[in-house]
Amino acid sequence: MTTCDVMRCQKTGSDRLTSDSNSAFERFICAEHKAAINGGAHWITDPDTHAVQMGVDLPPKFKSLRRRRNEGTGQVFVIETDRGSQDPMEILLTNEDRATLAKLFQS
Ligand SMILES: [Zn+2]
Repeated sequence: MTTCDVMRCQKTGSDRLTSDSNSAFERFICAEHKAAINGGAHWITDPDTHAVQMGVDLPPKFKSLRRRRNEGTGQVFVIETDRGSQDPMEILLTNEDRATLAKLFQS
């Protein structure tokens, strides 16, 4: 019997979790986490441990992005997430940064 692959869960991993974007991906998760995912809960894998991250283990989720008016050598963007206590975060982007980000979103 295997343990649920969701980070810090000690229940039995009784249900398969697969990924539409990677046919080789397979994890085993408990019935409660499977139900949560089937209900629309977000999940990702940790790049180092490959454990499944859910709930409080997820990074903050994107909520909004707006450009702040400014003069200078770059543009300031204001990012809000679903964790208001850390928001809003302002980030300075140069034109080169913006080009790099655009490439990331195209891949
Ligand atoms: Zn679980």
